[in-house]
Amino acid sequence: MAKWVYLFSEGNASMRELLGGKGANLAEMTKIGLPVPQGFTITTEACTQYYEDGRKINDEIMAQVMEGVAKMEEINGKKFGDHKNPLLVSVRSGARASMPGMMDTILNLGLNDDVVAAMIAGNPDPTFERFVYDSYRRFIQMFSDVVMEVGKKYFEKLIDEMKEAKGVKTDIELTAADLKTLAEQFKAEYKNQLGSDFPADPVEQLKLAIEAVFRSWDNPRANVYRRDNDIPYSWGTAVNVMPMVFGNLNDQSGTGVAFTRDPATGENKLMGEFLINAQGEDVVAGVRTPMPIAQMEEEFPEAYAEFIKVCELLENHYHDMQDMEFTVENKKLYMLQCRNGKRTAPAALQIACDLVDEGHKTEEEAVLMIDPRNLDTLLHPQFDAKTLKAATPIGKGLGASPGAACGKVVFTADDAVAWAEKGEKVVLVRLETSPEDITGMKAAQGILTVRGGMTSHAAVVARGMGTCCVSGCGDILMDEENKKFTLAGQVFTEGSEISIDGTTGNIYAGIIPTVDASIDGNFGRVMGWADKFRKLKVRTNADTPADAKKARELGAEGIGLCRTEHMFFEEERIAAFREMICADTVEERETALDKILPYQQSDFEKLYEALEGNPVCIRFLDPPLHEFVPTEDADIQKLADAQGKTVEQIRAIIDSLHEFNPMMGHRGCRLAVTYPEIAKMQTKAVIRAAINVSKAHPEWTIKPEIMIPLVGEVKELKYVKNFVVETADAEIAAAGVNLEYEVGTMIEIPRAALTADEIATEADFFCFGTNDLTQMAFGFSRDDAGKFLGAYYDAKIYENDPFAKLDQTGVGKLMDMAIKLGRPVNPALHVGICGEHGGDPSSVEFCHKLGLDYVSCSPYRVPIARLAAAQAAISEAR
Ligand code: PEP
Ligand code: MG
Repeated sequence: MAKWVYLFSEGNASMRELLGGKGANLAEMTKIGLPVPQGFTITTEACTQYYEDGRKINDEIMAQVMEGVAKMEEINGKKFGDHKNPLLVSVRSGARASMPGMMDTILNLGLNDDVVAAMIAGNPDPTFERFVYDSYRRFIQMFSDVVMEVGKKYFEKLIDEMKEAKGVKTDIELTAADLKTLAEQFKAEYKNQLGSDFPADPVEQLKLAIEAVFRSWDNPRANVYRRDNDIPYSWGTAVNVMPMVFGNLNDQSGTGVAFTRDPATGENKLMGEFLINAQGEDVVAGVRTPMPIAQMEEEFPEAYAEFIKVCELLENHYHDMQDMEFTVENKKLYMLQCRNGKRTAPAALQIACDLVDEGHKTEEEAVLMIDPRNLDTLLHPQFDAKTLKAATPIGKGLGASPGAACGKVVFTADDAVAWAEKGEKVVLVRLETSPEDITGMKAAQGILTVRGGMTSHAAVVARGMGTCCVSGCGDILMDEENKKFTLAGQVFTEGSEISIDGTTGNIYAGIIPTVDASIDGNFGRVMGWADKFRKLKVRTNADTPADAKKARELGAEGIGLCRTEHMFFEEERIAAFREMICADTVEERETALDKILPYQQSDFEKLYEALEGNPVCIRFLDPPLHEFVPTEDADIQKLADAQGKTVEQIRAIIDSLHEFNPMMGHRGCRLAVTYPEIAKMQTKAVIRAAINVSKAHPEWTIKPEIMIPLVGEVKELKYVKNFVVETADAEIAAAGVNLEYEVGTMIEIPRAALTADEIATEADFFCFGTNDLTQMAFGFSRDDAGKFLGAYYDAKIYENDPFAKLDQTGVGKLMDMAIKLGRPVNPALHVGICGEHGGDPSSVEFCHKLGLDYVSCSPYRVPIARLAAAQAAISEAR
């Protein structure tokens, strides 16, 4: 019989897969003697079983849960549902990888009218009654919301009405009698909403709560979070059942969240927040603004001293920055959770460097600690310093997630999504955020909240997403209902412009332009380690000298893809390009090409210069031509004039370029087959540029790489290659120089992968164009898949967008096959990837495993790819 339930005393940190991160760490803390309320963990396998059984907890699992309850009762000397000495529990989710705030938690479970009455009767302390009713109303609200999915708002409304009736501002000012009335009102609201009584039986409460946590693994926000963070659906979540300790017992009690190092900067100092007479959700939800952790020393000196020792012990044990939740009950400290803390990118680098310097980590381990996706935030824009200097903040909150953002104010997550879809940059302004807001938070440039500390939902989630966030700006007078707020006397409505600084917490009216981030010494140091360990080279996809320069600064070792068609977007150039497209005869086309040649040559020269002798791979013209034809009357007229044609003639040519399926139409090497003069012109431009730059810089070895796109048949490649080689050799001979060059192909049509042994006879290199390869392997459009992928996620057919994260099973198999077929035929063949996947960490790891020579990605993703490549190499060697 499978073991579905483990007491905390039966596990350890290595059992993360089975017990989830929280369960494994609770077990580990138990093992090393820390004060953890003793409970049990229901395994992640039980979650998988719950789904296999049609979203039901089977009898075998439930029987083991009840055995766990019995043992927990014995250890704690209290009984679940008992009238004399009742045991109350928390039921918390805990997946293998932490997913803060994404899944559900229920506190104070085990209460009912009888237990409440018995508890009060058993304790004459006058504050105790208040505590019991506070716990009861919290439990009814949480259970109704999380387990039964009755919205929180109904209960919050009742609390607000009660506070108003009593003339008080905070929950803490409500009396025992008020809370008792609230508990009654809550039960009535439950019945009103669901038509049945609130469940009184603690065992039934427990079963429903466990089911709710398992169910929450599949809630929409968890699904979005998993997709963003590469967490497989199949992992499931564990459930931790733990005896309650009560931070809301009295004024000798409290609850807190702390980090052993500053999660925003990485500074080695304890950072955290503490609330007296409160339960954990009060801190995280940002309902009350907590006090800094240092103040806990004044309030509870002994518990604080013990906590400091625990922090040291945990850091030394895990060799990483810890994020901890704890409670003080009657001055005694209890640890409720520890995990490696989430951190900003600058903090991640600072901590990695410090841990190496402090002897906690080797360089390899330090490289493995950093989530490559996190680096994105380092590279994000900051405010333009000059404009910033002239600007005066109108308010200040907490700098909760770094970076700068400006945009138009929106007040709801839905509005953020809708406005962003219209192409507007928005800043989402909320009283506080909750997990349902995740899609809106993602769509926004920045997030501003009125309430909440550094560990509030908004702060934690924004940091994880790398989105700029200012939280807890209590000076804002918010009117969410009417979509407006007032700050420093200024009224902001939907669409007003605002700028926020997630590092300082400053808020500005109007738009402050942003500039690129600059990178500090820790970044260089960590990247240096990464470069030492990685095997894959990292190139960039760059079409302009400016992009190429940026990519070089960020460590690119070459250009893996220059999309030459992107060089024609400027007004003057597009005119010549259109003349080329709308030419009727070879002569007309050649005349247009003669105009284009100097542009191309000078662009290529600039690329070679920017790359300083590193490889530059230039892909010949690829897109369907209709993408470039004019649509405006004035442009059509201009083209007609330039060509000496009538508008009707031009319109007829444009019509003739129409295709039913352009992405599978007249594009790629098919253009070169039909119009060899285009490829010849591009060859001349590449070779002439290389010759000129070689002459100017004899210290560089320039070896042009010419890449033919969309090849599916070796004869196609051979045909185009022949006149490319003929043209190139003629240019080189005419210049009287020695210049080596390569002609290779993209592998982006499944047939090319399947016949790679033939294609390799004609190619010096392969570069996987996984955008098209994915499109053609799946048979759906790379431009339109977004329309239906949502339904595929919901149906669990796909977990990720295959255009963002490489489909290793199918597309990956084609790649593997192409390499295995190609290399034996041409041992000198070098192989890369230049589809979007070249900058996606899990895809980079896969490319490492396949034995590619390089990945190529957009400039800002170069550091991500460097780090991911190093992690792949280090992990493989372990
Ligand atoms: C590809 O198809 O993966 C590729 C890099 O080419 P493009 O995106 O230009 O079609
Ligand atoms: Mg392509």
